[in-house]
Amino acid sequence: MKPAGIYIHIPFCRSRCSYCDFATGMYSADLAERYVLSLAKEIAAFNPAAAVEPVIDTIYFGGGTPSMLSPGQLETLLNAVHQRFTISADPEVTIEINPGSVTPETLKAFRSLGFNRASFGVQTFDDQELARLGRSHNADDARRTFRSLRDAGWDNVSFDLIAGLPGQTMAGWRRNLDEAFALRPEHLSFYLLEVHQATPLAAHIKSGLQPKPDEDLAAEMYEVMLDRAAAAGYEHYEISNLCLPGQHSRHNTKYWIAAPYYGFGCSAHSYDGEFRRWANERGVVQYMEMIEAGRTPIVEETLLSPVDRRAEAVFLGLRMMQGFSLTNYHETFGSDLREEHETDLTRFREAGLIECDGDLLKLTRAGALMSNEVFAAFI
Ligand code: SF4
Repeated sequence: MKPAGIYIHIPFCRSRCSYCDFATGMYSADLAERYVLSLAKEIAAFNPAAAVEPVIDTIYFGGGTPSMLSPGQLETLLNAVHQRFTISADPEVTIEINPGSVTPETLKAFRSLGFNRASFGVQTFDDQELARLGRSHNADDARRTFRSLRDAGWDNVSFDLIAGLPGQTMAGWRRNLDEAFALRPEHLSFYLLEVHQATPLAAHIKSGLQPKPDEDLAAEMYEVMLDRAAAAGYEHYEISNLCLPGQHSRHNTKYWIAAPYYGFGCSAHSYDGEFRRWANERGVVQYMEMIEAGRTPIVEETLLSPVDRRAEAVFLGLRMMQGFSLTNYHETFGSDLREEHETDLTRFREAGLIECDGDLLKLTRAGALMSNEVFAAFI
């Protein structure tokens, strides 16, 4: 069985960004302390349905803003993981941090706990764009955080950028790329802005307070970013992710290659690597009440049929830009994808959205931009 990953969700932020629809809320010290105790209890009580439990080789603290927890609280959670699971000799241990909310001393303390990868949301280096997104930091905070990480010895750093922001121009986007590639993080995640219903940003756009994002311009930004990334020596290894050679996110890759992962905390999702997916209660207070009452926080469970597993293997595997092995598919499922989806594959190839490279089926750049349309054919 493939090694598994652990995801721990920390649902607290300093303020709410205008575009955010994640399961997160305002930080309070009391709530955070109670939540950490619940998490430790959930981890200790973990009992997977799978008979064989794989070794863990990635641990990921995401959110929300995990860096709002104290080093002591993070240590409690890491200890709970180490007591309950078998951890490999060289795990990737990631913490998401928020620019401006960490000091150099805190970053050193996190590192001494065993965290060896940091990820943070820059989103843009333009202060006006950050203000429009309701971010709690400015561009200088992001620059300072990056420098502090390096000074504290972090040699595996990732940050996020968002393209297609309201009012963003191509010139502004190019300035973002100049600055991002000049910093040379080991890893960059890159998203096109999605406007989710019921967020303040959706209301601002509807009322005309902010301009509607330009989807065509965002697609051009994606192309420009890929050209710049290639020139700067970055590998485009997944639709939304770039890395310097060998520095892909080991944890996130598990989501695309059907490796098992176990999620803890409110709204966390899990997968046993075979037939079973499950998800926890989304509300933070309800989650804690369930744990405190000795009940399971799992509120949703899906048993995948063979058809579901085949579909997932294709649309998750195609996210990896190296391509998807048709031979592996045949060996795993006993059928030929080319025969099963002959019409769709021909249509996508003729439209320039996919290509075949020997045994590998791949999205093209145009296909990466229209991946949802491609994936829909396999679901
Ligand atoms: S920091 Fe991240 S999780 Fe928190 S509100 Fe902003 S986008 Fe959402």
